[in-house]
Amino acid sequence: MQASFKTTCCYCGVGCGIVVQQDRQGRLQVSGDKDHPVNRGMLCSKGMNLHYTVMDTSDRLLYPEMRYNRQMARQRVSWDQALDRTAAVFRTLIAQYGPDAVAIYASGQCLTEEYYVLNKLMKGFIGSNNIDTNSRLCMSSAVAAYKMALGEDAVPGCYDDIELADCIFVAGANPAWCHPILWRRVEAARAANPALKIIVSDPRATQTCSIANVHLQLNPGTDIVLHHALGRWLIENNYTDNRFIQQHTEGFATYREAVMQRSIAEAAAICGITEAAICEAAAYMSQAKGFISMWTMGLNQSAVGVRKNLSLINLHLITGHIGRPGSGPFSLTGQPNAMGGREVGGLANLLPAHRVLDNPQHRAEVQAFWGGATISPKPGFTATEMVEALEDGRLKAIWITGTNPLVSLPDVRRAEAALQKARFVVVQEISNKPETLRYADVVFPAAAWAEKEGTMTNAERRISYLHKITNAPGEALPDAEITCRFAQKMGYHGFNYQSAAEIYAEHCRLTAGTHIDISGLDYATLQAQRSVQWPYPKDTAHTGTARLFTDHQFYTPSSRAIIHSFDDGNTSAPISPTHPLILTTGRIRDQWHTMSKTGKVNKLKQHIANAFLEIHPDDARQRHIAQDDIVEIFNAQGSVRVKAKLSASIKKGVVFLPMHWGKILQNDLHRANNITHALIDPISKQPDLKFAAVQVQRY
Ligand code: SF4
Repeated sequence: MQASFKTTCCYCGVGCGIVVQQDRQGRLQVSGDKDHPVNRGMLCSKGMNLHYTVMDTSDRLLYPEMRYNRQMARQRVSWDQALDRTAAVFRTLIAQYGPDAVAIYASGQCLTEEYYVLNKLMKGFIGSNNIDTNSRLCMSSAVAAYKMALGEDAVPGCYDDIELADCIFVAGANPAWCHPILWRRVEAARAANPALKIIVSDPRATQTCSIANVHLQLNPGTDIVLHHALGRWLIENNYTDNRFIQQHTEGFATYREAVMQRSIAEAAAICGITEAAICEAAAYMSQAKGFISMWTMGLNQSAVGVRKNLSLINLHLITGHIGRPGSGPFSLTGQPNAMGGREVGGLANLLPAHRVLDNPQHRAEVQAFWGGATISPKPGFTATEMVEALEDGRLKAIWITGTNPLVSLPDVRRAEAALQKARFVVVQEISNKPETLRYADVVFPAAAWAEKEGTMTNAERRISYLHKITNAPGEALPDAEITCRFAQKMGYHGFNYQSAAEIYAEHCRLTAGTHIDISGLDYATLQAQRSVQWPYPKDTAHTGTARLFTDHQFYTPSSRAIIHSFDDGNTSAPISPTHPLILTTGRIRDQWHTMSKTGKVNKLKQHIANAFLEIHPDDARQRHIAQDDIVEIFNAQGSVRVKAKLSASIKKGVVFLPMHWGKILQNDLHRANNITHALIDPISKQPDLKFAAVQVQRY
């Protein structure tokens, strides 16, 4: 007999619906869910092969492990032994150095329930805000910009807007590879409406550019200059929505002044593109009845990431393309549940339901609800700040869960040296591959996708329920259960949940009355409806919310959206005669992050099997580099050694490395983050992963 389950893909923020068939032997097979509103039956290569990551348990961590000192090897222990020891060490360090001596570094892959209990544990009971996640490397600039412009971290639109738009601007993203099913919808929309204009800005001519009307192949770091030039053209040619600006925004006069500082010709020269291309793109925007912008890491992972985001959102605010069908700024979430994590407040500066730490009333509300320790107003360490705090000894213990920072953090050798200094490291993982395990004093084996239940929220605010389909191997446990067992060992009340549904119900109650109110939701509703978009308040007539701000009332104190003004400079560490090339990093089509899951699926290696350096033929020729030569890419941070791939599709002066590969056979020479900068955006604290000055030579 076969069993069939409807669940959700756990890779990217598109959030595709999946049907899992389980046969009598327990083997799984996946297919796209034809009834799901996101993917309508389609799956990309990663989603189609998801079942292999569960059925192949050869790399799975099966039992808790522990060691008493760094000289001894870790040994298998019971859950009680591992949790008792961890709780004892945490208690001792907290008593001796205070709660800020410990930290949790989690993941946008965590389910909402897992995020919720981790956040509650750290902020509500340990009494520190030292919990951050790899979402800091992914979406934090977009979060900060939404808050500054719209009053809250609230994505206004939905995927259905794609079919209603007649102009889509993809800024610093390659959704054809990184959000493939979303891009299939854009391609289908173009096929149905050949008049749909697509603009792409990217230093690389990626697969996404293949259907672009105009590709703005700009120099890295010049996005604000470009967005200001587009704004200037729209203002000068009277294509702004003056009524909308007057009634629903603040700050236009200053913005107008700022964008008029630079002529479009000047902007074109800085961006390294033609003036005609900027005018063509602006003209497409001006003619659109529905205008969407989509962006990801090209804008977010920057020393001026928040400004890049704001300068793009400004184009919507001056044209009134927000809060109506077919229009809106649309940040494409990288990870499957980065948005769910933000909903529960799972970053070092947030509290549940989009409350904030620096608001005493928000702290009091959450504290009263949880009934634990006093919530500190002091923001916790963010991802890169945790590295600094480990380096200088402020942080003594770190618990890393569901992420592999020794591949994904910038300037990763520094992060590795910092982790070595930690007095106590806990690693909670599904796989025995991640580099962090080498430093772990305690290992908690975790259940993977399909081995636990919970919820996730995708890029369009759509919350989906994920089924438990099969048992985890060995003694691996669902992450939320591990956290709750640890909290009980610490003597904290309020973690005695009987099920994931109970955790979710508590999270929903805490959202009541906020802008992300989902007090009307529970597992039964989600299982029946399959997925819903927040808000979803306790109101029997409510069916979810496709679009926000349809009344043009924003979540700012004045209810007006704020048009921010600033200069257009980039603050990345500049290129120099010794390091004259700009390195940008990114994803390839068939791998996911640090390859813990996709790396073990043979079919996914067929697309691109090894790390490579993409370099323009002119830059290669100058350095006597031929196709497939081994090249060394280096700067003050370190070096990377991979094969060269010559390509005229990358802008001259720019080189590209995929971010997925880590240490292979103890050789870290494929790891792109050996040579990225730990420079961060001053507001979002998101690292500048898209801009590092490097030199390249034949090895
Ligand atoms: Fe999964 Fe994203 Fe592919 Fe959809 S597009 S199947 S969510 S990886």
